Amino acid sequence: MSRNIGILRLSHRHFRDQRITTHVALIARAFGCTTFTYTGEMDKEMEKSINDIIDRWGGTFEVQHLTSYRSYIKNFKGKIIHFSMYGEDHRKTIADVKKISEDEDLLLIVGGAKVPPEIYELSHFNTAIGFQPHSEIGAIAIFLSDFLGTDILYQSFSGSKISLENNTKANRSIIRQQEIKDDA
Ligand code: SAM
Repeated sequence: MSRNIGILRLSHRHFRDQRITTHVALIARAFGCTTFTYTGEMDKEMEKSINDIIDRWGGTFEVQHLTSYRSYIKNFKGKIIHFSMYGEDHRKTIADVKKISEDEDLLLIVGGAKVPPEIYELSHFNTAIGFQPHSEIGAIAIFLSDFLGTDILYQSFSGSKISLENNTKANRSIIRQQEIKDDA
């Protein structure tokens, strides 16, 4: 992938959203996204759990807390795609994004408790993964799967300490035992 795809997660709440925000980051990383920014409450525990995964499983993925989304979005060089059930059919968004240069970076924005109306204005696309309310993890996963395909999910990342290529049940358990030994 020549372009970088980043995620902006809005309005993170330490206790309520920790697992959801972590899982948004992990699914984005699994699809090869390279940056994960979030607003709301700074959460060093959540950042650590994502960074621990990067340390073991490799890849380039930067996690950063932002005090304000506004300047980050305004200075972003690339196309901004905000996820909302009030947006357009994501299949149209994907068709339109495929028409722009493959070198142009993308920023995918998912909301939290409340999405400020200006996010709709600041974004180039407001995209709906169906017109029903569901989840930020589901929205990111379906969009990236439809946009990028799923081959990347079966690749290892550079710097990975663990590889699950061509594994069977048997050697998966050997790798798991190795992990446990490394942790000891
Ligand atoms: N109101 C909820 C709360 O208090 O936690 C959060 C709303 S929703 C679960 C969070 C985000 O998921 C939305 O801002 C949007 O980015 C994404 N989302 C949910 N359903 C979606 C859909 N059908 N299409 C696109 N994005 C969706």
